[in-house]
Parts: sequence; C-alpha cells; structure tokens
Amino acid sequence: MHKNKVIIIGSGVAGLSSAVRLACDGFDVTVVEKNAYPGGKLSAFEKDGFYFDAGPSLFTCPSLIEDIFKYANEPIEPYFSYQKLNNTCNYFFSDQTFFKASSNVNELSKTLALYNNEDEQQVLNYLKQADNLYQNTGSFFLKHSLHRLSSYLSLNLLKAIKGFKLKYITKSLHKYNAKYFKHKNTTQLFNRFATYNGSSPFLAPAMLSLISHLEFNDGVFYPKGGMISITNALHQLAIKKGVKFKFNQSVDEIIIEKNCVKAVRVQNEVIESNIVISNGDVYFTYKNLLNNSRAANKILQQERSSSALIFYWGIAKEFAQLDLHNILFAENYKAEFESIFKTKIVYPDPTIYINITSKMEPGIQAPAESENWFVMINVPATDKIDWQKARIEYKKYIVQKINKILQTNIEDYIITEEVLDPKLIESKTSSYLGSIYGTSSNSILAAFLRHPNFSTQYKGLFFVGGSVHPGGGIPLCLQSATITSKIIKEKFNSKHP
Ligand SMILES: Cc1cc2nc3c(=O)[nH]c(=O)nc-3n(C[C@H](O)[C@H](O)[C@H](O)COP(=O)(O)OP(=O)(O)OC[C@H]3O[C@@H](n4cnc5c(N)ncnc54)[C@H](O)[C@@H]3O)c2cc1C
Repeated sequence: MHKNKVIIIGSGVAGLSSAVRLACDGFDVTVVEKNAYPGGKLSAFEKDGFYFDAGPSLFTCPSLIEDIFKYANEPIEPYFSYQKLNNTCNYFFSDQTFFKASSNVNELSKTLALYNNEDEQQVLNYLKQADNLYQNTGSFFLKHSLHRLSSYLSLNLLKAIKGFKLKYITKSLHKYNAKYFKHKNTTQLFNRFATYNGSSPFLAPAMLSLISHLEFNDGVFYPKGGMISITNALHQLAIKKGVKFKFNQSVDEIIIEKNCVKAVRVQNEVIESNIVISNGDVYFTYKNLLNNSRAANKILQQERSSSALIFYWGIAKEFAQLDLHNILFAENYKAEFESIFKTKIVYPDPTIYINITSKMEPGIQAPAESENWFVMINVPATDKIDWQKARIEYKKYIVQKINKILQTNIEDYIITEEVLDPKLIESKTSSYLGSIYGTSSNSILAAFLRHPNFSTQYKGLFFVGGSVHPGGGIPLCLQSATITSKIIKEKFNSKHP
C-alpha cells in the first residue's frame, strides 16, 4: 500500500514524538538530524566516569510519555521506567534559611508554615487554584492549536473561560504570589516557576502560577538512567514503528513550488515529500531553510526566552545537604531578572540550580563516593556578551556562593569539568541566541503570538518543538507533537489502526 511520506527535520523530543505518532498513523516517516545522536537538547555525555544529562533535568508529566506508548500500542516497561520523588527540591535562601520542599502538599504547607510563618490553608488554596487553572484554562491552551477555528468551537473553550479570572493576566506572577503569601521566601519559591519556560516572574502573567500545579499536585519524577532515557525510549520506539533516521545530515533547504512543500535538500541529495515538519528553531527554519528573511524577522519581534550557562562538574565528594534538585537563590531576584531580560549583562549573584543524578543512582551516574554536578544559572539569550570571558566571571561568583552556603571549598573537589554556554547551545541545537525555551512568556499575548504548528504561507509545512505553540520544556514540546500530528492526520487522511 502506498504511504504518504513525511520528512521531519530534527530529532528533538518533539521530532521523535511526532515521528512515532505519524508512523502509527500509517505515514512513511524519515527523520533527518544534523547531529550524530538523537534528542537535541535532551542529550547526554560521559566524562571520566561521570554521566551528565546535557540539558533538561526536571521531569514532570510522565503521562505524556506514556500516552505515546499507548498510541503506539507498545508496553512502556521494556523501554522506560521512572519513580516519583518524595522531595521536589532542596531550597537555600539568601537569609540562610534551608528546607526541603515535599511533594506532598500537606507536608509542603506545614514546612512553609514552620519556616515562613505561612497560613497552611492559604498554601493549599494557592495550589488548588493552580490545579483549577491548569485543568480548565491551561489545558485548553496547551492541548489545542490556537490558530484553528475548530479549537474555539469546542466545549473546551467554555471550560477554559469558566476557569479564567482576570487577575491571571492583569497581574504579574510576582504580584500575584506576593499578595498570596506572607514571607518573601515563599514568594520567591513560587516566582521560580516562571523560569520553567524561560520567563521573568516580574513580567510574566499570573497565568504561569499553573506551573506550580505540575510540580506539587502532580509531582516530580526521576527517569531511571537519567533524562537521556526519554530520548532513548522514544528513539527505540520510533525505530520499532518503522521510522527511518538519517544522522549527521543537515537539511539545507526546504524546496517550495507554488507555495507548496515539494522536497528537502540534504547536502546534495533532494528528498521529495509534500509534508515536512521542522523541529528546528522556527527563526532558523525561515531564515536558512526557506530563505525568507521577512518571516524570520517577524519572529524576532517576540522576546526570546532566557538562556543558560552550565558547568558539568565531576565532584570527588558527597554532599549530604544536597538532593537530586537544589536551588541556591539570589538575594535580589528582581535585579537578577532585570539583568537577564533588560540590561543583558553578567549578574554577580545568580540563582544557582544544582542537579545531581548520582543521588538517585549512586555508583552508576558517578564513580563511588563522588557526585555528578550539573550547575546551571539562567543568563540572557544574547550574542552581546563575550561568553568565553563571562564563563570565568560567572564561575567565580558561583564558586563563592556555593562555598558560602555549603561551607566548603568546592574547587578542591572538582576533578573534571565541561561547560555549555548560550553560543554553544545555539551551535549544538540551532536555538537562536541559545534561548532554551523558544520565546519568553513575558507578556499576556505571548501564547497567541507564538508561531502556529503549521505554516499559513506554505502548504505542507508544519512545526513542532520549543519555538512554536504551545512553547518550550519537554511537556509542551510533546504537546506540540500531538497537536501537529493530529492536524497532519486529519489533512492527509492516514489511519490510526
Ligand atoms: C540547559 C537546558 C536545561 C533545560 N531544562 C529543562 C528541564 O529541566 N525540564 C524541561 O522540561 N525542559 C528543559 N529544557 C528545555 C527542553 O530541553 C527543550 O524545550 C526541549 O528539549 C526542546 O525539544 P525540541 O523538540 O524543541 O528540540 P531540540 O531539542 O531543540 O532539538 C532540535 C533538533 O533539531 C536539529 N536540527 C535543527 N536544524 C536542523 C537542520 N537544518 N537539519 C537537521 N537537523 C536540524 C538539531 O540538531 C536538534 O537535534 C532545558 C533546556 C536546556 C538547553
């Protein structure tokens, strides 16, 4: 039987997920990936016996991975397993307060009452509101294309409107949180969720309070083998479903005739297909693959998300104060975000995130009695900073802060190091200026201005991944794959068995 062909440019998590779904729908799918490995940002490496997830480290919404296996009618167990964490994160504040945030909401509210004098019921009310907001309004935005009339003609829209309150768009996340909580440390903790899609809590709307629902009501999880297991599982599943992969091959052009997609050019080879999905950054897709500077520049009208600077350290010591996820907060959060989004300069007191997967798999993720530290700070997505110089400056600030808070001399224990900066993020994953979540959500219109999952200009051209609707982060990228593959299935009429 003749199958409709689909070419997917890029094997990021959204590219892989789309590949599986469309292969199950009866399409003949080929993924072309410029790197030698799948996963894009969701990749990993080993150095001197230490294993590091290169990009994402926080795993929420495992049901979205399970959904792909259900769609493929394959048992997930041989490919992928995960566990729920009892503690979501260890928090260190600038006033020396330290506590573990439980994943049990009752425990969490007790902790916040004990340390920050919060009203326990008020904390529970906040999380209940976040739950409602996610289930009603959030689900509508995340699960549907915002650029198709059919989305607005469904009952889901009524549900979305029902759950909506004006304050979710008139207030910033910070203002909303500061009104809810008594202590600045609690506000800072809940402000942090804006960074989960690369935004500032002082600019992004209170809508983003729904992200806390995912972490506290739904839970934080650890995939066995680290985050790379997500990529490996989806890659293996795609192969099982007949998807073909071309690694080390860059798509140089999407060939268009009379505004219809005809083929892609991979070096000197032309691969014909009238359905193409770009999993690469939408800006580079228009600029480099379609040679359409006008469309590319239009995308630049929207602010990019933050980028990141990461030090991967092999540490010859174990730190009992630390857990899988750890945050060492900046004293002045507002000034930190101003440096990321406004002044775009090096900030001397960055909030530090430390992820240590050897806490979950000791002796496997790192040699015995050692730890694999993934030390990340949020930085501006910009090419105006000299990142080679900034690395040195930032490392000094990071080391100083870690030493002060953990009462140590961390440099004595660093036995191996790798660094990833915005410039490298751009070159490795083709994300413009190294932004890690596509565009920011720093305005109330951001959700509507993000690029659709399809092109209105070129028939047969579709998009998935962090730079298009509904946005960045693994869960949203997986949602983009579901939305896009559904549209393709409807339009090109293949069948899910
Ligand atoms: C440091 C860091 C930390 C993060 N932390 C988290 C986290 O804790 N939790 C979370 O959920 N998310 C996190 N994220 C965000 C998350 O990693 C991304 O949103 C997600 O992985 C992006 O997936 P994607 O499908 O958009 O594709 P990408 O990962 O962006 O991959 C795109 C792929 O397309 C390929 N490609 C591009 N152009 C071409 C071309 N012309 N030809 C061939 N191939 C091409 C690239 O090589 C790449 O492999 C983090 C990201 C980074 C970088």
